[in-house]
Amino acid sequence: MVGGWGCGECDQCRVGNHQICGKGRWPGFGLYGGYGEYVPVPYQWLIRLGSENNLKPEELAPLTDAGLTPYRGIKKLQQAGVLGPNSILAVNGLGGLGMYAVQYAKLLSGGSLVVALARSDEKLAIAKEFGADVIINVKGKTLDQVRKDLIRETGRGEFNAVIDCSGAEESIGLGTGLLATSGAYCSVGLVGNRINIPLFPLVAREQTFYGSFWGNYVDLSEVIELAKKGQIKHQINIVRFEDVNDCLDRLRDSDFVGRAVLTYK
Ligand SMILES: [Zn+2]
Repeated sequence: MVGGWGCGECDQCRVGNHQICGKGRWPGFGLYGGYGEYVPVPYQWLIRLGSENNLKPEELAPLTDAGLTPYRGIKKLQQAGVLGPNSILAVNGLGGLGMYAVQYAKLLSGGSLVVALARSDEKLAIAKEFGADVIINVKGKTLDQVRKDLIRETGRGEFNAVIDCSGAEESIGLGTGLLATSGAYCSVGLVGNRINIPLFPLVAREQTFYGSFWGNYVDLSEVIELAKKGQIKHQINIVRFEDVNDCLDRLRDSDFVGRAVLTYK
């Protein structure tokens, strides 16, 4: 099921971007369905899986959100023309979204070198397994220290493209601080509510900043197709419904590696 249910009549809906419709509804946010085992869904928001698919429900669930948002973000960078064999694409932050972003970075970036940045060696090791060419632990490091690590690993000190999956101010400062001339930056993370980045490089170095929100029906259909072909790996924590409050506490403490999926059995 695609998550953003648009009005169907506005300019955004007419081009298929129901998830950014100003009059849209999102099941689980106000509408019934947040923790429901079953949810009534108007048929137009459903995607047919086909009887031949072998995807498990716990793998499908995160694909509609954590596994969808970075897909759209990487597509924006692809459309910006900044990805290709001579490019370095950074995935900044390796939470639920970042683990998928690393994989889409490999699948959609036309041979770019994929660099994963995070503060946890455990998460970085999984990113490497999921296809990252280079991993850099940024915990406690200044921008210049990370730049030195990047030069040591790749021979270059800047990124041509960055997808930021955390949204934290510190993470965005690092990503934009290492963005190359004509580089493109895409934010999909939503932790903070304000960013503070210098204007001069954005203008004088002709950098582009993209916001990217969730994904539309076409994006999700593409993601499901990749999953059916076995091209997406999952990092899932199964949580029983009766443990949901404990799960929320752990999320608050960033204690999860990958995505938590609630089950009712
Ligand atoms: Zn609309």
